[in-house]
Amino acid sequence: MLKILKKERWFFLLISAALLSCTSADSVKPQAAAKVKNIIMVIGDGMGPQQVGLLLSYARQAPHSVIANRTTALDRMMEQGRLGISMTYTGDALVTDSAASATQLATGRFAGAEMLGLDKDGNVQENIIEKARRLGKATGLVSDTHITHATPAAFAAHQTHRSQVDSIPEDLLATGADVMFSGGLSYWLPEQVDDKNSEQYRQLAQLTDNNIEIKSLRKDEKNLLTAAQQKGYKLAFNKAQLQQSEGKTLGLFAGSGMANGIVETQNRGDAKHVQPTLKEMSVKALEILDRNEQGFFLMIESGQIDWAAHRNDTGLLLHEMLRFNDTLNAVLDWAKGRQDTLIIVTADHETGGFGFSYSGVDIPKPHSLPGAAFGEGTLFQPNFNFGSPEVLDRIYAQQLSYRDIFSQFDQLPKDQQTPLKLTELVNRYTEFKITESQAVKILATEANPLYREGHISLGKKVVPKIEVNGAFFVYQNGNRENLLAQAVATSQQVVWATGTHTSTPVLVFVKGEEQTMRPFAKILHHTQLGRLMIDALQ
Ligand code: MG
Ligand code: ZN
Repeated sequence: MLKILKKERWFFLLISAALLSCTSADSVKPQAAAKVKNIIMVIGDGMGPQQVGLLLSYARQAPHSVIANRTTALDRMMEQGRLGISMTYTGDALVTDSAASATQLATGRFAGAEMLGLDKDGNVQENIIEKARRLGKATGLVSDTHITHATPAAFAAHQTHRSQVDSIPEDLLATGADVMFSGGLSYWLPEQVDDKNSEQYRQLAQLTDNNIEIKSLRKDEKNLLTAAQQKGYKLAFNKAQLQQSEGKTLGLFAGSGMANGIVETQNRGDAKHVQPTLKEMSVKALEILDRNEQGFFLMIESGQIDWAAHRNDTGLLLHEMLRFNDTLNAVLDWAKGRQDTLIIVTADHETGGFGFSYSGVDIPKPHSLPGAAFGEGTLFQPNFNFGSPEVLDRIYAQQLSYRDIFSQFDQLPKDQQTPLKLTELVNRYTEFKITESQAVKILATEANPLYREGHISLGKKVVPKIEVNGAFFVYQNGNRENLLAQAVATSQQVVWATGTHTSTPVLVFVKGEEQTMRPFAKILHHTQLGRLMIDALQ
């Protein structure tokens, strides 16, 4: 009897050990996702949980929210979707940039900072677009930044540094995604087009209907539009040409970055405005890619969430989140009722360390409440100002990005670039008024404490004076915008921690068939998320 018990216990121990090793292996390498025909990955660049929170707060709490039924596309994702979270760190660092992060998503491998399509040791790794093409699928890249920018580039290029914009267009053509819709025409044009009398300039002006500024940002004489045509791409430069496109198309709708979210909102329905929206580019990409019977992979980037957050421009950030929301709604409309498509929505990292926060300024006056507990003269009297939801409407009402406010300011004659003039501009285009003495602080400069000769962004000798955490405000050309953000922090009820990225884990929303989604509903790392996505594609 005792012997049998012992034997059984031994057997039980064996089984438990097997189960345990299974569980621990499982937590390292998530169980593979079931195969799926189409995958759409939507990346909000810089869209950490905080930025998602801004969209949700606005949708649910703004007195005049423009979001129909106060239901965001993310709410729709979660109706039958699953949620995971993912760490974004790179092979050897705590914090990532967009190039390394998108590389980790696109290849499932750890990358080094600012690398494109390489692993952390510098080896070329196959990305999901290359795999999808091997499987006979159609592929696409859509971004509201420019097509050579870090996020889309990481899904196609293999370069040691994201700044190698002269080589990225050739990599994009070699990888050969069927549709590429974004900005960035300048990176495809030979230097000669800068001569307005050149034949190359004249031809292009005609091709683009004079809608885009024709200017080369290359340092050579390569015309990569011609190279694209030789590879079978049709070209598109405006909304009408986008609408007419049917097959393999390279759409370059701006010289560099596309219009920001505030401008996109203002131009909606304006026939004179010929630049397509992120939503329009995405819908067209889906229409073209869906013609392939083998299925497709499409990456859509809402890339200017990051740009707004680097500048700590809360009003612009909200409009970027709304542009993301509109685009994702269109993707969900397209996918409605389909069983063959997996939608993954995530971010590459959080930008700015954003948050609404409670303060000791403008503490609301005590007032009575109807509830029984507050009877007998007991007043409702919190110790601090926890923030009024009406601030969300005022954030939405911003009419110009901080960048555009300062570019108006910089276009004034030098003797008019005064604190008073800046005060007027800020107070005209935003709901959060500043005083002239605040404007003096925003315009104050100092000898660059981070100066590095020849550095891409730290190379100026005199820069705006950031008093707190200055080491984290590395895009010094834009630091007046961050100083403006600090000036309105109290009235916006908003704090920003940094001008760069944070390591905050990001959210992963997935929608598709249950067995396809389930492996994503975990605490992941972006290499695992990438691997799951790559493995799911069949
Ligand atoms: Mg990006
Ligand atoms: Zn960034």
